[in-house]
This record gives sequence, C-alpha cells and structure tokens, in this order.
Amino acid sequence: MKRYDTIDALRAALGRARQTGRTIGLVPTMGFLHAGHLELVRRARADNDVTVVSIFVNPTQFGPSEDFSTYPRDMERDLALLAEAGVDAVFTPAVEAMYPQPLQTTISLKPLGDILIGTVRPGHFSGVATVVAKLFNVAQPTRAYFGEKDFQQLTVIRRMVDDLNFPVEIVGVPTVREEDGLAMSSRNVRLSPDDRKAAQVLSRALSEGAATIAAGEGDAAGVLAAMTARIVAEKGVTLRSLDIVDARDLGTVDRIDRPVVLLVTAEVGPVLLIDQREARPA
Ligand code: AMP
Repeated sequence: MKRYDTIDALRAALGRARQTGRTIGLVPTMGFLHAGHLELVRRARADNDVTVVSIFVNPTQFGPSEDFSTYPRDMERDLALLAEAGVDAVFTPAVEAMYPQPLQTTISLKPLGDILIGTVRPGHFSGVATVVAKLFNVAQPTRAYFGEKDFQQLTVIRRMVDDLNFPVEIVGVPTVREEDGLAMSSRNVRLSPDDRKAAQVLSRALSEGAATIAAGEGDAAGVLAAMTARIVAEKGVTLRSLDIVDARDLGTVDRIDRPVVLLVTAEVGPVLLIDQREARPA
C-alpha cells in the first residue's frame, strides 16, 4: 500500500494506472475507520483494479460550533487497517494541500443541500459536495463508494454527478451496524456506556417505523408520531429531526405510496448521531 500526501503525487500514480486501462475505485473518508468504512473498501476492491481511500477531515463541512477539532483521529491505526484490507493507495493530504488558497469556487445544491440535515448544519453539504468534487478531479475514479447511512450525502453526490456530468459511477453501500443495531460511526467512541445503550432507540424506532409501513400504514404523520413518542421517551436522547421522504429526491411525502426513507438526527450525550432506513409500502 502506498501513501500519498500531495495531489501531484496521487495524480501521477493514478495516471499511470489509468493509462494501462485499469479501473479505479475511490472511497472518501474522514478516517477513524470502522467496519462500515471497510465494507465500502471491500466493495471497491471487488469492482475495481485499483482501490484508493482518502482520509481527510474536511474543515469546510463543519460549522463554527461543530466538532472539527475534536473529531476522532488515529492515522496509524487507519493505515494498518487499510493495508490489511488490501487497499492500493491512501491519500492523506494536509488541509493546506487541499486548500492552498481560499476557495472562490464552491458547489451548493439547492434545495437538496438546504433541507433536512442542511437546516441543522447550514453549509455542510456545500462543504461535502465541494471536497468530493475536488477528490473526483484529483483521483478521476471509475467508481466512488458512499454509505447509505449518510443518505442525504449520497443523494447530494448523485445529484451533483448528474448535474455536472462527472464521469464517475456512484455506488451506495448499505449501513453496517453494531450487533444491537446502532449504525457504526466514528463518533460512537464518544458515547458513554449509558449513552451507547440509549442510542439503540434510534435504529429500533427506524425498524418499527419501516415495519409499520411494510404492514400497510400509509399515513406518514401517523408513523412519525409513533416513532417520535418512542424516541423522546428515551432518557439522554434529544431528537433533532425525524422525516419520511421520497427515497429518490428526498421530497416531502404525506401518503406513503412509493419507496421512502426514514431519516433521524438526534443528540445522544455530546454526539450528533444520524441514521436511516428505507421502507416500501405494502
Ligand atoms: P465518514 O468517514 O464518516 O465521512 O464516512 C466515510 C464514508 O463511509 C461515507 O460514505 C459514509 O456514508 C460511509 N459510512 C460511514 N459509516 C457507515 C456505516 N455504518 N455503514 C456504511 N457506510 C458507512
């Protein structure tokens, strides 16, 4: 496994691979890797000749009062996990390497980046879309892999690629969970044992909501009310948002007559957790 810190070095290495007709799979991450990230890597390796993982905690997707400085980091451990997983190249740029000058060009999606999590984290999806566009231009991957856990992010990236004709195939990968259902996240390490237990309510409420929909409940407001009651009854969990939206464009849904996705955002202890579950009407 080779590690590259600069855009030029990664470009040169991947340029050689591309010239010999090899396909490139890119997995963008912010590091502190867990089994969810490694599932994206596994998929990328299965589909492509060369697998590249980027590790970059991107400052432009964090708000001023968010956890950029306390976001968990462990480069040595991440590199060992990726080497073991059979990754060919790791891209680990410093902030100055990605942003040598203040950007005058950014990408924002309207309304897709401003709704749902975009209302809680203004500017977040513009930061995400812009850094992913930069990574696509640097690595020029054949395919890029994103988790369904960050469902709005996946939708934003798919739409950006469609709108701006990026020559890359976007692959969405189902959420990898802990045994008790909690969606794996780098931020889970900051949950106390009590928080960790309380956090289970999110995946449980999502499963129950999806099961109700599959059993024939078509009224989104009714499903949301039952899920809300379940979550707010859990001590230590502060519900921030709960939505049932169209699985394709994240548009509002009142009658559940097409595939939808249930999205939840909640604060558990010091951590903002998100989770999702897709559901289909009976
Ligand atoms: P992050 O390092 O949190 O930015 O995540 C990097 C990529 O891994 C994103 O595409 C995430 O959606 C994906 N990811 C994070 N957690 C999971 C998970 N539990 N299951 C599947 N993919 C995940």
